[in-house]
Amino acid sequence: MIVLQGTPLCNLNCSYCDLSPVSRKLSHRMPISMIGTLFSQIKQLGLLADEVSIVWHSGEPLSLPPDYYDEAIELILALNSDGPGMPARITFDFQTNATLIDYKWCEFFHRHRDHLRLGVSCDGPRELHDPLRVNWSGRGSHAQTVRGMDLLAERGIAFNAIAVVTAETLAQPQEFIDFFLARADVLTDFHFNILANHADGGPQIGYSRDDTQKYAEFYRAMLSLAQSAEGSKLPVRNFSQTLGRIRAATGPDAPDFVRLGTAPLRQLNCDARGEITTFYAGLNAEFLADLYGDGKGLSLGNIEKQTLAEMLGGDKLERMMDDFGKSHRHCALSCDYYALCPGGFELTQLVENGDFASGETTECVIHVKTLTDAVATFVSDQLRQPA
Ligand code: SF4
Repeated sequence: MIVLQGTPLCNLNCSYCDLSPVSRKLSHRMPISMIGTLFSQIKQLGLLADEVSIVWHSGEPLSLPPDYYDEAIELILALNSDGPGMPARITFDFQTNATLIDYKWCEFFHRHRDHLRLGVSCDGPRELHDPLRVNWSGRGSHAQTVRGMDLLAERGIAFNAIAVVTAETLAQPQEFIDFFLARADVLTDFHFNILANHADGGPQIGYSRDDTQKYAEFYRAMLSLAQSAEGSKLPVRNFSQTLGRIRAATGPDAPDFVRLGTAPLRQLNCDARGEITTFYAGLNAEFLADLYGDGKGLSLGNIEKQTLAEMLGGDKLERMMDDFGKSHRHCALSCDYYALCPGGFELTQLVENGDFASGETTECVIHVKTLTDAVATFVSDQLRQPA
């Protein structure tokens, strides 16, 4: 996965955004030539997988005009089929708040339908969405997001939905899932998103271990509501991925999800100024700026100043891999859920427990353990029912 930040600019000021409000007001854009430099170097170094997802994210991608992406896509596809070796199968992913979707954008999505996937961020019904997904004047954005989704539906453009779960959502699972079930015909799938860091977002959205029971009930309710929805089918990614891991975790060839999930170069991020990070999709170079003593967080370097080969040969990547390795070894030795964990909590362990080699965090309890238990219990209950 290659995550490109076309621009940090966003027309919304959602309270839980990973980008700072200052960043989201900056209107610079990633030069098309930078995309060419990055992609050519990735290809020359033999780092392209058979299938590659290029994701425009971090900032509202539709803040830039469609012809910016026409040009970028044309360039990437040309570079992909250029030179020796099999070209990768490339998919272009857009994650948008949908408020800027108009007929011009629908034409763009339609034009690229063979290699484009669209994701819409919407937190469900208005009363769940509007308190936190606001514009710069503090007004809720639900009406505009729904208008964008309706336009996509009218034009037959399928999309997936991502919804952030708040304290209010936990209390209203029926209203929450009904909103998305009503759009099941046009949704490819659905993912509910619990903040990656429990301390972010204030009381409406933060969580603690004391909330474990509430999350267990929410997962149970969502599982049975998604299952019982009459006539509508809405794949819920949180559940299908958890079930996939439960299925794959037995047997001699069971994948090591924790190590695979954050293997370096599996995900590569380039922000609009050219800072390169890896390990997590969308990792922001501002995060933990002082961790490695250069004020640049987990940035490997800047593609305008260094080549990718120089960045990958530097000792900073080695130090980061060493730290992530400490986390993985500790998890493998200490956690009963290791075989089922998707991984991705290394920096959370450092922030929450003060050490990479420190094991369980609040996120482990809520995201991994409680969810895995809920899915496993649900499946075994289903299997016990008479056919
Ligand atoms: S749940 Fe937490 S402690 Fe367990 S393997 Fe995953 S990250 Fe490690």
